[in-house]
Amino acid sequence: MTYEVLKTAIEKSGRPYDLARITRAYKFAEERHDGQFRRSGEPYIEHPIHVALMLLELGLDDDCICAALLHDVVEDTETSLDEVRSQFGSEVSELVDGVTKLGKIHFSSLEEEQAENLRKMLLAMSKDIRVMLIKLCDRMHNMRTMDSMPPQRQRDKSLETMEVYAPIAHRLGMEAIREELEDLALKYLDPDAYNEISRLLVDMEKKNGDFIQTVTAEIREKLEQNGIEKAEIQSRVKSIYGIYRKIYMQDRSIEEIYDIYAIRILVDTIAECYNVLGAVHDLYHPIPKRFKDYISTPKSNMYQSLHTTVIAKNATPFEIQIRTFEMHHAAEYGIAAHWKYKAGLSGKDSMDERLEWVRQLLESQKESGDALDILSSIKSDLVPEEVFVFTPKGDVIDLPAGATVIDFAYAIHSAVGNRMVGAKVNGRIVPINYQVNSSEVIEVLTTNSKDKGPSRDWLNIAQTSEAKNKIRSWFKKERKEENIAEGKQQFERELRREQIQIPPDQMESFMNELVRRQKVNNIDELYAEIGYGGLPMSRIMPKIREMYDKLKKPAAPVFQEVKISRAKAVDGVIIEGLDSCLVKFSRCCNPLPGDEIVGFVTRGHGVSIHRKDCRNVAIAMESEEGRARLVRTEWDDSANEQFRSTIIIHCLDRTGLLADISGKLSSMHIPIYALNTDVSTDKRTTITTTIGVSRREHLDSVVEKLKKVKSVLDIQKVN
Ligand code: MN
Repeated sequence: MTYEVLKTAIEKSGRPYDLARITRAYKFAEERHDGQFRRSGEPYIEHPIHVALMLLELGLDDDCICAALLHDVVEDTETSLDEVRSQFGSEVSELVDGVTKLGKIHFSSLEEEQAENLRKMLLAMSKDIRVMLIKLCDRMHNMRTMDSMPPQRQRDKSLETMEVYAPIAHRLGMEAIREELEDLALKYLDPDAYNEISRLLVDMEKKNGDFIQTVTAEIREKLEQNGIEKAEIQSRVKSIYGIYRKIYMQDRSIEEIYDIYAIRILVDTIAECYNVLGAVHDLYHPIPKRFKDYISTPKSNMYQSLHTTVIAKNATPFEIQIRTFEMHHAAEYGIAAHWKYKAGLSGKDSMDERLEWVRQLLESQKESGDALDILSSIKSDLVPEEVFVFTPKGDVIDLPAGATVIDFAYAIHSAVGNRMVGAKVNGRIVPINYQVNSSEVIEVLTTNSKDKGPSRDWLNIAQTSEAKNKIRSWFKKERKEENIAEGKQQFERELRREQIQIPPDQMESFMNELVRRQKVNNIDELYAEIGYGGLPMSRIMPKIREMYDKLKKPAAPVFQEVKISRAKAVDGVIIEGLDSCLVKFSRCCNPLPGDEIVGFVTRGHGVSIHRKDCRNVAIAMESEEGRARLVRTEWDDSANEQFRSTIIIHCLDRTGLLADISGKLSSMHIPIYALNTDVSTDKRTTITTTIGVSRREHLDSVVEKLKKVKSVLDIQKVN
């Protein structure tokens, strides 16, 4: 195909493209690719022209068409990115750069979980969603022209297309592209099945003859009787891969697939959609339970339509899809519909509008649960909150933005972190506080020496709580003596800073008192806890300050000294002055270990425990009577008791789901006290489970980990 074809298409589009600039991009690309040929024999430049044409059809803007023409010059020729920038501006060069980077990531067979991470990563990396659109069109043209490639390459690329690019197209709502990518990939991945289904379709076509025509005519007449005259009626045959999935994965015969033929009815308004539905149900007998209203409840990728399956007069079941023209455009073009139907061609406004549109997409999807995937991936596009990096073996590890190589090492395994002496990023040694970026390959350098362990500074460098906790627990276990010395030092430093000077003769009793109130066995244990970082000085300073104030004016024992008995902890809390009493955890704030708490003496129902920041505590503080009922309460840390917490996990139903969730919990050593599964008709599963956790942060981290299990859509914590 020559540039003339593209040029004509641009002129025919009726949109104000800058043809001179696009022509300049074409000439530049043609010159750089001069002498290069595709495997099929045609000049290389044909490929970028095809890609540009597809983007034109999607309605994309000037910058995007130029970038499509130039998308391979940096990768495949001597051209530098700077040159592209100076010739065509930074928007174009950034698009080309994005596409080039995506192209550098290669992978063949992936485990499912890895594929999921990779999809997220690719989306996150294309900061500008146009990068992904160019990449999808690039892949589409490569798939269409795959015949001349060697068989191994055909399979590799097809697998990648099936596992990564088709799902991305689906998420972006671009169904036409997704279906074609899937069909092309299937052709190389399972050629026998592909050919068989193609044959079956031809046979059915012969057998059913003018079925579609008859049905279309019947529907048109019925709609006209009902006063709906402007409806457009289209017919479609299900995609080969769509049929393949039903036959092979759901184990059905082709006769059992009701939606091989579908009739699509397009109308102007939503009200008309429902009128049409009524009319066709009047005309044909609907199959029960096959009606789906995606207008009132759109799919996660914003797809909207009414679907119903009816039985034709010759007893053939077929599907009818009813939607407005606008919904139809959105379904065909997905995220690209924005450019085609809404945005202008260039200028700052369109960029803001574009982001605004993505934001709206996010907003509207918050309500429907299964949108979380696309949500987080597009969100990281706007607010980069996750980075995706590789191990040398090619596993993808996701970390929060700002994570360092230390976090990476501990994310792999605590043994790797503890033995780390340095790290290489993309083959180069980096400092230990290096912050990792998406797509970097990270290698942790370790030593076998047993003496080596993490350094205390790492606690300040590490960003993830996972790494921090693992570092702390190493110190706790391995460096008892050091911890005591470090803790003592910190303790004394803090007292000096706060100008607390305890008279030497009272030192011993003071420390004994503190030991008792902290509920540890001896002073060394207290120092050790401070030393390894488990007990920050800031947490015990108020106590010290209070004891010190009392020490300074011992004359007025306003407050009767209360011994908090360790042995008498009730349900994991110690209540000042009360050795044994009925303890109730309040429902209003659901306190968990780790929260600051206070007790409230109720009338005849023992003590109810609230979080200090609970609204009801604030209310109690307002009256004298209320204040009098508050009693000091602490968690009994020594018990390290498990608390039961109930969570509701919303998932898509699949085999092995329950095993994966309970496996994940048991890998975190979380006890399961109750578990209840509820499968609804729409393939959703709700799992309600009661688990044991030690602290609120613990529960949060468990929830985060569970969210990563495949098919989990959302998790609710029940208060
Ligand atoms: Mn290309």
